[in-house]
Amino acid sequence: MNDEPAWKRLLNPVLSELVAYTPAPGDFPVRLDANEAPDLLSRTARQRLLDTAGSVAWQRYPDATNRTLREALAQRSGVAPEQILVGVGSDELIALLLMTFSRARAGSPTVLSSTPTFVMYRMTARIHGHRVIEVPLDGAWDMSLESMIKALEVAQPNLIFVASPNNPTGTMVSEDRLRTLIEHARDSLVVIDEAYIDYASRDHLQLFHDYENVVLLRTLSKIGFAALRLGWLMARQEIVEEINKARLPYNIAVPTQALASVVVSELGSELSHIRERVIEERERVSKALEDLTGVEPTASQANFIWFRSERPAELVYENLKKRGVLIRSFHKHGGRLKHYLRITIGLAHENDRFLNALGEVI
Ligand code: PMP
Repeated sequence: MNDEPAWKRLLNPVLSELVAYTPAPGDFPVRLDANEAPDLLSRTARQRLLDTAGSVAWQRYPDATNRTLREALAQRSGVAPEQILVGVGSDELIALLLMTFSRARAGSPTVLSSTPTFVMYRMTARIHGHRVIEVPLDGAWDMSLESMIKALEVAQPNLIFVASPNNPTGTMVSEDRLRTLIEHARDSLVVIDEAYIDYASRDHLQLFHDYENVVLLRTLSKIGFAALRLGWLMARQEIVEEINKARLPYNIAVPTQALASVVVSELGSELSHIRERVIEERERVSKALEDLTGVEPTASQANFIWFRSERPAELVYENLKKRGVLIRSFHKHGGRLKHYLRITIGLAHENDRFLNALGEVI
């Protein structure tokens, strides 16, 4: 007799290959695992946000079109408001893209990306019924152009996700490789995820202007406002209009719309300050890692550093945790990643605590 409850037979079969996204549990005095920005907000900025939250009309639904916020973002990003769609973090926009561009071509809708990269492309694609093809990055963590083009020809992907700067490697895709990929991908949409663009030396706006099949993703999460859960997508207006049909009407709460509008239109100098301080610290930590024997940092264009450790990453990770420092290890991915870890840049004293602890465990 089968005593499995009936509801189990109703589950989406893809769920059996997924695990829920859960950040590492526990209290750590130094948490440098999630690519958040350190707390560098001024008192004045905090007060401005508090006043804004204080004047919210709590009884009202949000503006379903997110108009004021889209206008502020358009101005900050150098595109038209009609070319912008906002989401609950870029996470929601990734899901919306997968829902919208889901027509099956070769058997099932297909997503192409590099690996290692942001895991939510794969996880979200799977739950939305897409097949996922992942092409390993090359030895310098840049895109393997030839393999990507081959995969493109064979798999005919609906969407190609390219994070640049990439998480977890902190590297940008070479501009000429990205351009060549886009030119070969005329039958696909190329989504360039600029989550870490505030910390990079260049952006991809020119590619967006040059090619109809390019979509950009940005977020406030990495530049000091992860708490708001606010991301935005930039695409041709006709593309935005199609994705907008799949969006739930009131996706962005009233406080988030109001606070994010203030952040984007009034707190530009706060964002610049965070960017400058984090980059300064990133360069200092990179140099310190270069000077340590047994570790090899990769040059970073983001707010974190990807580094190789001679000792197994799992061991380094566990021993850092014992010393109160939480970072990210990629040992579970196997292969070359067994020796790789990622540290988010924090405040100077947090980074120092990490460097001291690392010195002890390697
Ligand atoms: N894209 C990349 C490359 C990321 O690393 C992350 C966060 N880890 C996201 C998107 C998600 O960002 P958000 O907080 O805007 O959902």
